[in-house]
Amino acid sequence: MLEHLRSLPASLNSRSSGDSASFAAPRSHEEHVLWMQKMDITPFDFSYLGSLLEQAYSDWNSRVGSRLARTSTFYSVWNTEGDCIGYDSDHEADPGVNARRLVLECLDKRQVLSLKGTSEHGEYLIITHPLFSRTNEDMFAVFTAVIYESNGYETSEAVVQSEALHYRTCFYRRFEYIFMTDLLHAHEQTAREEHRRSILFQIVQRMHDKMDVEAILDEVFDSMDYLYPATYIKLYMSQDQSNSDPRIKPLLVHERGEDLCVRSFMEGKLIVARSHDAENRIVDVGIPLKGKQGIYGVFHIEMNEEIMEESDLQLITMMVDTAGTAFENAKLHEQSNMLIQELRLINDLTQRLNKSLHLSEIYQLSEQELKEIFQAETCCILQLNDSTNDFEVMSSNVKDVFHQSFSVDYGIAGLVYRTEEPLIIANYAQFDKVSSFFMEDTGSMSLIASPIRVNGEVKGAILLGHSREHYFSYDNYKLLQMLSIHIGLALSNATLHAEVRRLANLDMLTGLYVRHYLDSVIHERQAHEFCGSLIVVDIDQFKQVNDTFGHQTGDQVLKQVSEIVTSSVRSEDVCARWGGEELAIYMPQVSVKQALDYAEVIRKRVAEETRPPVTVSSGIAEWSWMDEKVSVESLFYRADMALYSAKNGGRNRIVVEEQDVTR
Ligand code: GH3
Ligand code: MG
Ligand code: MG
Repeated sequence: MLEHLRSLPASLNSRSSGDSASFAAPRSHEEHVLWMQKMDITPFDFSYLGSLLEQAYSDWNSRVGSRLARTSTFYSVWNTEGDCIGYDSDHEADPGVNARRLVLECLDKRQVLSLKGTSEHGEYLIITHPLFSRTNEDMFAVFTAVIYESNGYETSEAVVQSEALHYRTCFYRRFEYIFMTDLLHAHEQTAREEHRRSILFQIVQRMHDKMDVEAILDEVFDSMDYLYPATYIKLYMSQDQSNSDPRIKPLLVHERGEDLCVRSFMEGKLIVARSHDAENRIVDVGIPLKGKQGIYGVFHIEMNEEIMEESDLQLITMMVDTAGTAFENAKLHEQSNMLIQELRLINDLTQRLNKSLHLSEIYQLSEQELKEIFQAETCCILQLNDSTNDFEVMSSNVKDVFHQSFSVDYGIAGLVYRTEEPLIIANYAQFDKVSSFFMEDTGSMSLIASPIRVNGEVKGAILLGHSREHYFSYDNYKLLQMLSIHIGLALSNATLHAEVRRLANLDMLTGLYVRHYLDSVIHERQAHEFCGSLIVVDIDQFKQVNDTFGHQTGDQVLKQVSEIVTSSVRSEDVCARWGGEELAIYMPQVSVKQALDYAEVIRKRVAEETRPPVTVSSGIAEWSWMDEKVSVESLFYRADMALYSAKNGGRNRIVVEEQDVTR
């Protein structure tokens, strides 16, 4: 019956004699009554009428029962199939067979029938009364009275008729009641659905308005709280989501094994499981938070089955789906913002780094910038010294480590060097891989570190520290890795540049400095020092060496002489190839007298050590701050003049300006 009536609104019009306006909302009370009265049953409903007939019978019976209690009349109600639906349970309708026969006849003839008979209780009269529907006069039941003669047929046909009508009224009241209840239920359902839809709409709108990952998740929790207060809801996130919200937990796939959330995450779909405890039936739901590019987590919801209808589940799923898309958008937005910011940072830093080609400046600038970018308390940049195999601190704001050297296998830098990997430490107290002077001296708890690579090889390390635990984020760690690449590039550029500069000042054949470099050194020295000497060395008869042994041998001799020259003077003296086979040595803060000793050593050694043997002649000149005119040119000129004298004097000899010294 109910099932059938559920479809009422749609089928109503056809029942109400084709009056299509009948479902237009009635206004006044009278209209309501009229409208209700037009509602009626049709033959389609007959097979569902059983319980309605029965309920109507008991309604009718309870109203008239006491009145009929002591009579010898028994009333019953029969459906259109000829089955007895309602009867007075105290009295078995005795002449059942006869009554049924008369009911069937009544159903056929559609009119009041009566029949007399006899049973063990005596004579009786059966009256069957057809019951017709209100509008179309469909016969929907038979009202029957069995009247025993014992009281002299106390009940008249008229009484039976009025009871039949009374019963029909009871029937229609029941019908209207059920109809109304059903209608109300349908109304409620629609209203609830509408409410839900409007809530969902608002949620969707709010979610898409948000560009912040956390706000979107909050929205889900708030909406769930509002719609289903006191429902258990947690979100398990698959990715490292640094979140202090207690409702958000990491999804530990291995630890949680085969549970609902892990399955929901793996399969990327809604999973519902039902269980029950002592009091309640519980629905467990895993809903993946997913977008187009991936699954980010799983919502775990636990609900009492009574408040979780199919439509609720649909609503929650739609909400989480929306959240998934909004979450993904917000996440992409956040990521691209971060990327832009990072690129800007990298760009700024590299621009500043590339302004300088001096290593020390680059180290210093890097330290300042990194401290600023990561808001670190301490910073230390180390460079590997290839010859000592030590890390040297090139820049640091920590006094105790600046300019210090550490063994290549010591501490954080040593670890970074060995692993060639960046490093993040959240709590140094729990870190047991290496001990670190940098961390301990500064009382740092958090650290990010990265190797500095030059041409693919680890040539240094950057350490950034902070006294708070868990201070640096994973993003910080990744960014430092990026920045250290650029710092490495800037350093290798500067190193290359220094090397090029050095090479430009060197003579290819002899490895001595070139003349213009010597010029600039002397010029520089003359500006700041008190005195100095210049020795000019020229190989004697070198043309002949070339002519006799060839140019290549000539070159070898030139190299031999150069080596003798550099190994005969002090490290602070500057040896240069001044031209062809002519060399020059500038000796800062040295007088001609002292220079003469060095020149003599050279002269002797050349004569003894060169193969084929050659000799050299030298001219020496000095300058002093007291000279009238101090210049590079005059110094060279005077030394050259002395050399000229030495040549003229017979070669293999040394001339100090304006005095011939022959040994
Ligand atoms: P003197 O004793 O007067 O200095 O005689 P000399 O032959 O050394 O003098 P001169 O200036 O006439 O000749 C210099 C020669 O040195 C000419 C040139 O061929 C040779 N020379 C200059 N530079 C080089 C070089 O780089 N390699 C070789 N093999 N020979 C060179
Ligand atoms: Mg010569
Ligand atoms: Mg010469």
